[in-house]
Amino acid sequence: MGSRNVNGVVTLVCITCGKELYFTHDVPAAATCTQCAGTVFRTFSTPTEPDEAAIDALEVQARSMAYGDSSPETTRGDVRDLDLL
Ligand SMILES: [Zn+2]
Repeated sequence: MGSRNVNGVVTLVCITCGKELYFTHDVPAAATCTQCAGTVFRTFSTPTEPDEAAIDALEVQARSMAYGDSSPETTRGDVRDLDLL
């Protein structure tokens, strides 16, 4: 899927009656409440389905955590390198 959609689910909550409308793709610029025909909503976005960018971010975080675990060794090597210079 190469389409660029909103990540996850966007929830519009009707300010008038509290009805929740869910959008998993593009959010319409002007939505109308199916319950009271109101047009004022609060918008919440919930990234429930990680896309490639989100997965990348998680992998980078995991990698930097793993790197942090082995940092004493790495730091020692770095210091030794600096000494040699
Ligand atoms: Zn409503």
